[in-house]
Amino acid sequence: MTGRLLLTNARVLRCTGARDERPAAADVLIEGDRIARVAPGIEAPGARVADLRGATVLPGLGDAHTHISWPLDFVFDHAAVAAAAPGPHLLDVAAVVRTFLESGYTLIIGAGTTQPLDDLHARDAIGRGLITGPRIVPSGPMIAEVGGLGGDGELMEVAADARQLRELVARQCDLGVKALKLFISGDGVVPEHPSEDVYMNDAMLEAAVAEADRHGAFITVHARGSASVAMAARTGVRIVHHACFLDDDALKALEARRDDLWVCPGLHYLYAVVSGHAAPYGMTPDRVEASGYPRELTSQIEGLHRLRETGIKILSGGDFGHQWTRHGTYAAELQRYVELAGMTAAEAIHTATRNMGPAAGVETGEVREGLLADLLVVDGDPTEDVTILQDPARRRAVLKDGTFAYLNPGIYP
Ligand SMILES: [Zn+2]
Repeated sequence: MTGRLLLTNARVLRCTGARDERPAAADVLIEGDRIARVAPGIEAPGARVADLRGATVLPGLGDAHTHISWPLDFVFDHAAVAAAAPGPHLLDVAAVVRTFLESGYTLIIGAGTTQPLDDLHARDAIGRGLITGPRIVPSGPMIAEVGGLGGDGELMEVAADARQLRELVARQCDLGVKALKLFISGDGVVPEHPSEDVYMNDAMLEAAVAEADRHGAFITVHARGSASVAMAARTGVRIVHHACFLDDDALKALEARRDDLWVCPGLHYLYAVVSGHAAPYGMTPDRVEASGYPRELTSQIEGLHRLRETGIKILSGGDFGHQWTRHGTYAAELQRYVELAGMTAAEAIHTATRNMGPAAGVETGEVREGLLADLLVVDGDPTEDVTILQDPARRRAVLKDGTFAYLNPGIYP
């Protein structure tokens, strides 16, 4: 018989989908790694009991755009990370995945590794119980087109046509990669590759999608400009990162894929750069202006309002790990959704929970009978003030697979 754990005296935020959802008093019964029942006053003779003393239980959070290769003290030097000795580097990776878990994140989707097998090594070590960390949908090295952003091949793999791309995808999938990351647009931060540039083409993306699908994996893309977003949507890409510019064509293409495509904006990253948080690290006001990011931020915020109205699902996530978007501050993304994109706090939380599980292909994201018991316990009501999710002192515990994976040492001495 599997272990039974009863969480009592809790307020439960189920993440059912209502924009005005609030936590309500309930107990949660866990059997093995799954949620068995959610209701007030559950009787469960023989179960281990954890009295949560009025704390809020919500699904563990997720981030759909992670780079666990970037160490806790990462600044900007991708080449140095790529060249680091693998042993010490993997210890850095272990510290990063522990930070995710301790920040309430039980699920992450990789958006490209700097040393090729980082996500896979971390996932395996977590699975074997060697280190602590979230569920990982592993990515591999990013893939660029010859001549495109990253196309010099220094930090990415490079394909010239559909056949080569299919081969690269197959090779990564054979290693166990599940979320492949392709660069199909430029990025204002690299002036010779503006965000509106489109790289690859329909035939290449269709080949990549088909090959990934054959392996039970999926394609994610860096796509900032409208034309690249539209191409991703019509060719079967699952996660579109950034989507900073959305014209009517792009929006229509996204809408047609409302059921099996998600947009992951990385709003906080853009906000932080434009707000000057990166200035001490070399992103001077001149460089920010030259990148076009201020215009992209305005456009992305407008786009997020339109995505919401159209019912296109948004995923929380975005490039955390720079010193101005430090590891451990992941839930700042949710704060920006509330402050800038007009979401309710509950809706912002849904981007990291009920939207995340299905996007990752994992049975998580709601506090609901039958789902995996990946849960976060916090003091206070995050639907009243979403910023409490950023406060380490309020994080009581994190459960993964029905087991306490983190207990706040400041609360439970
Ligand atoms: Zn990224």
